[in-house]
Amino acid sequence: MTQKDCLFCKIAQGAFNTEFIIETEDYVSFKDISPQAPVHALVIPKIHFDSLNRMQEPELMGKLLEGARQTAQKLGIEDNYRLVINTGEKAGQTVFHIHIHVLGGRAMQWPPG
Ligand code: AMP
Ligand code: ZN
Repeated sequence: MTQKDCLFCKIAQGAFNTEFIIETEDYVSFKDISPQAPVHALVIPKIHFDSLNRMQEPELMGKLLEGARQTAQKLGIEDNYRLVINTGEKAGQTVFHIHIHVLGGRAMQWPPG
């Protein structure tokens, strides 16, 4: 369920006293430590999946998306925001516990780099 030595499992368990924007029985959201936009948060499940490709619970995935929407709302960016799920190293994934980036507070460019 949780993976030893996984940073995000530890965060979800409250090991670092992270301030959660939202906490439910299934997921937490919190501010990204290295924000790439004026508002940048992450939504992560409490149980461990390496990436979207390992995510075998579509119902939980739906809850995470709803959590991302609610996180955007709580942070006041609900009218303009971007959700990102980097999957695989070459796509920019650096933490191998699935997470949804919630980005906003500035105009976004397309296509992303
Ligand atoms: P990714 O590159 O898509 O795997 O995203 C990982 C994200 O986790 C990056 O945006 C990091 O800035 C963020 N991150 C890494 N360590 C922490 C931490 N301790 N607290 C909050 N965010 C973190
Ligand atoms: Zn984990």
